Amino acid sequence: MAVDATKAYDDQNIFAKILRGEIPNRTVYEDDFALAFHDINPQAPTHVLVIPKGPYVCWDDFSAKADAAEIAGFVRAVGKVARDLGLVVPGYRLLANTGINGHQEVPHLHVHLFAGQPLGPMLVR
Ligand code: AMP
Repeated sequence: MAVDATKAYDDQNIFAKILRGEIPNRTVYEDDFALAFHDINPQAPTHVLVIPKGPYVCWDDFSAKADAAEIAGFVRAVGKVARDLGLVVPGYRLLANTGINGHQEVPHLHVHLFAGQPLGPMLVR
């Protein structure tokens, strides 16, 4: 079920449990600000999720409340993961679902990184 972007952070969400090491993940990259791991149900040959270490529900929450170091660290981590995986050429797609219409399901901010094939038009109408 999609989550309301304005709800309070729930520290029992699955990505919070991954960050605490309570649930396993296939880690691609980790630093002080971010964790990147393979999506459990990949939608492309490469489908990695990058999440901030801080407790932010979604892009709206993060962009409003995270401090400058957290924002810079997270954005740099997303770019580094893509470079380290060799995705810059021929390219990749980033997606951050937000709120009900964005169909966000896990209430901890995550950026989807898709690659490994031509990804087609942005949205299917
Ligand atoms: P979203 O709809 O943007 O909230 O996407 C949530 C994503 O999390 C989906 O692509 C799921 O396949 C993925 N996901 C859910 N649980 C796990 C998990 N334990 N490990 C890795 N990915 C997960």
